[in-house]
Amino acid sequence: MLDKAELLLPAGSLVKLKTAILYGADAVYAGTPDMCLRAQSKFSMEELREGIEFVHRHGKKIYLTLNLFMHNRDVAKLPTFVETLRQLKPDGVLIADPGVFMFVKEHAPELNLFVSTQANICSAQAVKFWQQQGAKLCVLGREVTFAEMKEIREQCPDILLECFMHGAMCMSYSGRCLISNYLADRSANQGKCAHCCRWHYKLHLRLKDGSIKELTIDEHNKDSFEFLLEEEFRPGEYYEVMEDEHGGYMLNSKDMCLLPRLPDLLGIGMDSLKVEGRNKTEYYAGIVARTYRQAIDDWYSSPDTWDYTRYMPELDTLQNRGYCLGFHDGKLTNISQNYEYTRTLGDWLFAGSIVEWQGDDAIFEIRNYIDSGESIAFLQPHSLNNLRLSLTEFEDADSGEITAKVSAGQGKKIRLRPTVWNQDINEVKRLLPQYTIARKFQPLSGPNGEMLHRKQQEFKTLIK
Ligand code: SF4
Repeated sequence: MLDKAELLLPAGSLVKLKTAILYGADAVYAGTPDMCLRAQSKFSMEELREGIEFVHRHGKKIYLTLNLFMHNRDVAKLPTFVETLRQLKPDGVLIADPGVFMFVKEHAPELNLFVSTQANICSAQAVKFWQQQGAKLCVLGREVTFAEMKEIREQCPDILLECFMHGAMCMSYSGRCLISNYLADRSANQGKCAHCCRWHYKLHLRLKDGSIKELTIDEHNKDSFEFLLEEEFRPGEYYEVMEDEHGGYMLNSKDMCLLPRLPDLLGIGMDSLKVEGRNKTEYYAGIVARTYRQAIDDWYSSPDTWDYTRYMPELDTLQNRGYCLGFHDGKLTNISQNYEYTRTLGDWLFAGSIVEWQGDDAIFEIRNYIDSGESIAFLQPHSLNNLRLSLTEFEDADSGEITAKVSAGQGKKIRLRPTVWNQDINEVKRLLPQYTIARKFQPLSGPNGEMLHRKQQEFKTLIK
């Protein structure tokens, strides 16, 4: 067991990796295009080398995923991949398939073998099995409740344990699902999930004459009827299917956020706290890393005065589907499901990031439209403080052209001269190093705003 839990962030690309480390991650996990579960990894081999070197230079750790379930056709690639791993020297390799585990153990005995969430470890017995095989760490399934996690920790004190703390939930048993395969020809078990469980579905009726009619829900009929499913062997037991003008959401989980339960995880000695989201932006990586870094450090220094409400507003600045506690408190309740919308909503947008300092000029890549006079908050990596800036004009970083507003696109960058900051430029450079991210406030109004704030209220009722 480690003395202090590790904050583990996803690294879906080199920039995301560097941002996560800058904002406080102790470790990152990444894959390679060929063999990892996330088949759409943005890493080339060269970038991976650079990423590993960057992480180690900062005294942090990196784990690589090799967690797909192999078919015979994949086995021939294993020797090459294992050889590459031996050269790259990651701090751990995440594996799910027992055959892969055995192969890597035999051919690269110096590598630390971790058992991925794809192995669905939900009991102390399963942890002990993998420990006997030589695993150094086991990732517990998202489906493990806190009560179970505590028992597993007590019964397995001599192996590192990791659990999920933040990120999207899978409606299936963590990736074991055929919906994506069936509807999009993309296998979740091969890392290509298309999130079909969150797509919009509409109800249709087939009439006796064979014609099909869509049920259009509108202002006039929305209160006239409900849709109910009845399972063959449960007569009279009805499952309500919700549909409104946006569609129906039968399988639409909210996102997991265990920030309010962080003292539980730290108190029992979980070794690694994992954040999901390799396909999310560096903005997500930066904010999640910064928030949990601060929350974890504060708990260790003063557990009695720790209060999650200090950090929650930061996580609320992220686009999300509404937060829930996953399985932490036990069985999922209705409130863990979002019946209103499938897209992510938020009051803040990723404005851009400082991609480079050229002398005293910051080169700022634009990620969203910014208008003259809008306030931009630059997020300081080592505290929850921000540095605000409001510009009346924008200087193109390449051409020098001056405009009154600026839009994102094709790597559009502006140059921020030292005079814009209104304070000592060396201090600005210290507070906002390369990869600093920035956001802008764009409050949602109308139904979207109401839905978002309703979800925030629902989360508060879950926490009590
Ligand atoms: S489609 Fe949904 S339920 Fe299936 S693997 Fe993807 S996220 Fe999970």
